[in-house]
Amino acid sequence: MEPVFDRVESRVTGLRVQAQRDLGGVETISADLVVDASGRGSHSPAWLDALGYAKPREEGVQVQIGYMTRLYRRRPEHLPGKQAVVMAGCRPGWRFGVILAQEDDRWIVTLGGYLGDRPPADEAGYIEFARSLPKPEIFGVIKDADSLTPLAPYHFSANLRRHYEELRRFPEGLLVFGDALCSFNPVYGQGMTVACTEALALQECLVAGSQGIARRFFQAASKLIDIPWQMAVGSDLQHPAVAGKRTAQLRFINWYLAKLFRAAQHDALLATRFLEVANLMKPPPSLMAPGIALRVWKGSRAAA
Ligand SMILES: Cc1cc2nc3c(=O)[nH]c(=O)nc-3n(C[C@H](O)[C@H](O)[C@H](O)COP(=O)(O)OP(=O)(O)OC[C@H]3O[C@@H](n4cnc5c(N)ncnc54)[C@H](O)[C@@H]3O)c2cc1C
Repeated sequence: MEPVFDRVESRVTGLRVQAQRDLGGVETISADLVVDASGRGSHSPAWLDALGYAKPREEGVQVQIGYMTRLYRRRPEHLPGKQAVVMAGCRPGWRFGVILAQEDDRWIVTLGGYLGDRPPADEAGYIEFARSLPKPEIFGVIKDADSLTPLAPYHFSANLRRHYEELRRFPEGLLVFGDALCSFNPVYGQGMTVACTEALALQECLVAGSQGIARRFFQAASKLIDIPWQMAVGSDLQHPAVAGKRTAQLRFINWYLAKLFRAAQHDALLATRFLEVANLMKPPPSLMAPGIALRVWKGSRAAA
C-alpha cells in the first residue's frame, strides 16, 4: 500500500493497494483525502521521505513492558464484594497486576513489569509473580483458582509520538491519525479515547474545508495529545531506570501524585478524582484545585 502522488499539484490523489490475493496485481483507488490510520507501524514517515518531504520528529520513551494475561473461573469466595483490583507499577519492584470480573463467572488477570521484567510463561512462575506484587489480592485468587485459558503474552516497547504539527511542508490530500500519530503505553488505556477526540477534531477541520487541512488537523491533534502524552510519559518516568528528561515540573507533579496516592487510600473523593483524570474525563489541573490540594496535604500527613 502506498499513496499516489501528483507532483505537479503536490497532493496525494489516492492509494495504490495490493489487489485481493486471488486477483493479483495492484489496484489504484482515487480519493480526495487519504487518512493513514494504520497504527504505530505507519509508513507515512517513509512515504514522506520518498516523496521529498521532511519526516516528522519522533519522540519516544522506552518502557519494554511485558505482560501475561489469563482467564480464571470466579468463585463466590474470591474478593467478596469486589469487581476489580488494580495495582499500578510502583517502587520498589514496579510490577503491576489487574484482576477484573467478567461475565460468566470469570476473572481476567494481567500481570506485568517494566524493562524486560516479565512474568514467566509457566503456571508456577506466574503465581509466584503474583505473590511478588505489593498487595496480596491477586495472588490470593489465582493461587488455587481454575485457569480457563493458556497464558497470553504481550510486549510493548515504547511510547512513540510523531510531531507532524512541526512540519513546514506536507502534501495536500493526506493525513495521519490515531496510533500512527501517537501511541501510548497501553497500561494507561488512553489510545482509543485520544483517537475518538481526534475524530471529532477531524470532523471540525473538514467542515471548514479541505484546503490546508493537514496543518489545521495536526495542530488540533497535537493539543489533544499533549495532556495524555504528558500523563503517560510522566508516569513512566517515575521508574528510575526509564530513560528520559525529568523536568522540574515533572518531578514536582510526580512528588505531588505520590502524596495524592497516599491520601487517596483513605479518601474516596481523591481516588475518584484521580481516576477521572487518568481516564481523560477531567483535566490534570483539577487534581490541584485548592479543596483537593488540602485533602492531599492532610491525608498524606495522616497516612505517613
Ligand atoms: C494491549 C493493548 C491494550 C489497550 N488498551 C486500551 C484501552 O483500554 N483503552 C484505550 O483507549 N486504548 C487502549 N489501547 C490503545 C488502542 O488499542 C489504540 O490506541 C487504538 O487501537 C489505535 O487505533 P488506530 O486505528 O490508530 O490503530 P490500530 O488499532 O493499530 O489499527 C490499525 C489497523 O491498520 C491495519 N493496517 C496496518 N497496516 C496496514 C496495511 N498496509 N494495509 C491494510 N491494513 C493495515 C492494522 O492491521 C490495524 O487493523 C490498547 C492497546 C494495546 C496494544
